[in-house]
Amino acid sequence: MTSVEDLTQSLGRELFTLAQKEARPIIKSFWWKEKAIMWFARDDNLRTQMLRFVDVFPALKTTEGKTQHLREYLIQGLPHTPPIFRIADALSRFPMGANLVASVAEQSIKTISQQFITKSTPEEVLIAIRKLQKEGVSYTLDILGEAVLSEYEADEYMGKYISFMEQLSSLDCPRIDLSLKLSALYSQFDPIDFAGSVEAVKNRLRKILHVAKNLAAPVTLDAEQSQYRDLTINIFMEILDEEEFKNFENAGIAMHTYFLDSEEKIRDLIDWAKGRTTPILVRLVKGAYWDWETIAAAQKGVPSPVYGEKWQTDASFERCTDLLLKNCDVIRLAVASHNIRSIARAMAKASILGVPRDRLEFQVLLGMGDLLKKAILRMGYPVRVYMASGELLPGMGYLVRRIIENTSQTGFLLQSMGTGVPVEKLLKSPQDTMLA
Ligand SMILES: Cc1cc2nc3c(=O)[nH]c(=O)nc-3n(C[C@H](O)[C@H](O)[C@H](O)COP(=O)(O)OP(=O)(O)OC[C@H]3O[C@@H](n4cnc5c(N)ncnc54)[C@H](O)[C@@H]3O)c2cc1C
Repeated sequence: MTSVEDLTQSLGRELFTLAQKEARPIIKSFWWKEKAIMWFARDDNLRTQMLRFVDVFPALKTTEGKTQHLREYLIQGLPHTPPIFRIADALSRFPMGANLVASVAEQSIKTISQQFITKSTPEEVLIAIRKLQKEGVSYTLDILGEAVLSEYEADEYMGKYISFMEQLSSLDCPRIDLSLKLSALYSQFDPIDFAGSVEAVKNRLRKILHVAKNLAAPVTLDAEQSQYRDLTINIFMEILDEEEFKNFENAGIAMHTYFLDSEEKIRDLIDWAKGRTTPILVRLVKGAYWDWETIAAAQKGVPSPVYGEKWQTDASFERCTDLLLKNCDVIRLAVASHNIRSIARAMAKASILGVPRDRLEFQVLLGMGDLLKKAILRMGYPVRVYMASGELLPGMGYLVRRIIENTSQTGFLLQSMGTGVPVEKLLKSPQDTMLA
């Protein structure tokens, strides 16, 4: 009998081969992006200052503000300023040069964001959806916005989701599928007022789910920072226990695996799902807030809630995958990762357990899983692209998280991008990585 590990290795190699085949025709258009990513990944100071600059940029309205911040963050803020920024600084001291530098900076940030964020109107989104449809790939749509500051904004965010669903439906869109962040549904979303937050969010979420249910549109709740985790899980369970949504077949929730107690939370969710008549979707993710969680815990002087070593999060991802697949009678699993090892491991386990194909899908982020999605499709599994839509200002947190992932030294993406790391190492089990 083939072991899970042997099957993981052979499926992993197959995925690598298929992804490499896909890479050939488009490698030229990717190389300069790869070069830029390597450049930022190699220098921690440059990476941090660049992220600060990108974060503040949409709020800068004048040429003077843009060039001044460029000078402060990327010239004065760095011990070794790259020559290109020195040239930009010199140019920006003349009026025409300043306009040129500000516009090049703006264009560069727009180009980066366009890789990860799609445009903002339903008509524009539909064009992107149809393009995916042609490739045989499904989508889930995230309307950008998180942690709203006022109740007016929370109402506006809820309204946007509802009107997007209605407009997409009137445009004859393929099955509408949404992902949303609960922190955008209440300005005071905070575990300090647990009951109040649950009620306020449920009032708005109910209206979104009501429309979604009528359109048979799946809705998945995104996983946010640790302080929102229990609130999100609670709201998910409570609202689905309500009479109107008891039989709603299209509800999903994202669950992190980088928390020390991730498995425990997933076990609780499975136990609850066993009491339902329809399965729920669980989107399994490692977690995009690792830096934030680690720094926030250190600042408060409390133990970090997340694992400290990358292999630990990977191992937890595999344990949680197994747990969810074993409960495929009540769970549909969406493995959301760009790591070929994690993906191959899920395929291997599902195959050995005999999990039906409609109980497992793979999800990638727009702009990050282009080669991978085609390889997974060729292996006969469904693929869904998580598509964030909107303007740069509300999308800044999202964009910064994507840049962090792309430039992370420990991340699978960077290591697999022609950096000379051999396939055997990239496919190593987390336990073997620990021992190495
Ligand atoms: C479709 C889709 C939807 C997503 N939705 C969400 C969401 O709702 N919420 C969310 O938070 N994220 C979400 N993510 C992002 C996800 O959590 C990961 O950040 C991202 O996918 C990178 O993980 P990976 O398996 O692709 O890559 P890998 O490179 O294998 O893993 C990187 C991850 O490992 C972990 N890590 C890195 N360094 C360390 C360390 N030193 N110690 C311990 N752990 C470490 C982090 O979680 C990091 O993101 C989503 C991803 C996808 C593909």
